[in-house]
Amino acid sequence: MALTGLDIYKKLPQKNCGECGVPTCLAFAMKLAMGKAQLDACPYVSEETKAELSEASAPPIRLVTIGVGDKALKIGEEAVLFRHEKTFYHQPGFAVLVDDGMSESEIGEKLAQLKSSQFERVGQFLRADLVAVKSSSNDSAKFVELVKKAMGTEFPLVLITDNSEMMKAALSVCAKTKPLIYAANEGNFEQMAALAKEENCPLAVAAKDLNILSELVEKVTAQGIKDIVLDPGSRNIKDSLRDATFIRRAALKKKFKPLGYPIITFPCEMYDDPYMEAVAAGVGIMKYAGIIVLSDLEAWKALPLYVLRQNIYTDPQKPMQVEEGIYPIGEPDEDSPVLLTTNFSLTYFTVSGEVEASKIPSWICIMDVEGLSVLTAWGAGKFVPESIGPFMKRCGITDKVKHRKLIIPGCVAQISGELEEELPDWKIEVGPREAGDIPAYLKSRSA
Ligand code: SF4
Repeated sequence: MALTGLDIYKKLPQKNCGECGVPTCLAFAMKLAMGKAQLDACPYVSEETKAELSEASAPPIRLVTIGVGDKALKIGEEAVLFRHEKTFYHQPGFAVLVDDGMSESEIGEKLAQLKSSQFERVGQFLRADLVAVKSSSNDSAKFVELVKKAMGTEFPLVLITDNSEMMKAALSVCAKTKPLIYAANEGNFEQMAALAKEENCPLAVAAKDLNILSELVEKVTAQGIKDIVLDPGSRNIKDSLRDATFIRRAALKKKFKPLGYPIITFPCEMYDDPYMEAVAAGVGIMKYAGIIVLSDLEAWKALPLYVLRQNIYTDPQKPMQVEEGIYPIGEPDEDSPVLLTTNFSLTYFTVSGEVEASKIPSWICIMDVEGLSVLTAWGAGKFVPESIGPFMKRCGITDKVKHRKLIIPGCVAQISGELEEELPDWKIEVGPREAGDIPAYLKSRSA
C-alpha cells in the first residue's frame, strides 16, 4: 500500500529549509506521494529513512534500461495518463523482428533497415531502437548465430524464446550488452528470473491476462528481479489498447506495483496486413507502449511512426525551438538575400529546407519568440515591428550584407509599413505566405 503525503511527512526532517525546491517539508511530502519529486532532493534524509520511503518515492512506473552506451533505450517512469496533463518522458522504442527461421537475405534486409530507415526532422534524428531476435527453429546454434549477427548492428537486443536453455546460450554471447530477456511465463519464470538475476538483465514477463501477469510479476520480483517489462498477451488493437490503459491506470491511479512497469507490444503478431500493423503501432505510441516490435521498418511505415512518436513525446509546454541568430544557408555573401522568421523549430527547418532547395545561398535571421510560429507570435505581440526592429539591429546582419533588403513572411505582410518605420535603412519585401513557394520566389527575385 502506497504511503500518503502525511505518512511521508512524519518521516521527513521537518526543517522547512526549502533546499529541496519547495518551501516546506509538507509540500515536499505531497509531491513525493504524487510521484512528482525524488527523495534525493532533500539532503537531510537519513539512509534508514530513505530505505523506508523508497516505495513512496519510487516512480509509479519503473524506469527500465535496455542495452548499454549511447544506444541504450530507457522506457517507463511516466507520470500521467494524458500528455496534456504534463508530458510523456520516455518515448517507446521501435524494434525490428528477425527470426532464425528466416532466410539469410531476409535477415540481412531487415537488419539493414535499421540504418536505411533513419531520418532527420526539425533538427532531431529519428530512428529505430532495438533488434528483436526470435528463435522459431528451437535450435540453439542457429539462435546464437543470429544473436551475433544482430549484435553487429550495435542496437540493443530483445531475445525471444521460451526455452531457458536457449536463452542461456544466447546470453553467453550478449549478456554484457544488457538485452531484454523475453519472456518469463507461467511455465519457465523461475529459470528465466534466475538468468535475468545472474546476468543483471531486464526481464519481460508475459501472460494471457492481467491477473496472471500481475501474479507472475510478484513471483519474479520475489526472486529479486527489479527491471521488468510487461506483455499482457493482447494481440489485436482493441485488446491491446484496453490492457495498456488498464495497466497505466492501475500503476498511476492505484499505485498497483505489480503493473508499475513499461509495456512491450507486438504489432508484428497482430495482423498480416502491413497497414494494420502500422495502425496498431500508432495506437501503441499513443497508449502506452514502451517497446513496439515491428515485422520490418520499410520507410513508408517507419517515417510516419517516427513522426507520430516525436509529436506525442514533445513536451506540449515547451515548443521546440532553435537559437536566435543568423543562419547561413549554402555559402551566402554580402549580396545574398536576407529572410526573417521565428525560432519555432518546425518553422525554421521548413524555411531553411526550402531555401536550400532553391539553391540560392541566403541568410536567415531567426528571432527568439519563445518558440512560437510566425502567426502565433504576431498574435501574441512578440513578432511585431517594435521587437523586430531591435532584433535586426542587435543580430549583426548589417556586418554580413551590404544591401538593406529584408524578406518577411507573407502571412505578416501587414507589418511591412510599420517595420520600415522601425528600420528606416531597410527596404521590406513581403515573401510568400507558404514556405513551399520560397524557391520560386527567390529564383524570380534573383532573375
Ligand atoms: S530539504 Fe528536506 S528538510 Fe528541507 S524543506 Fe525539503 S524536505 Fe524539508
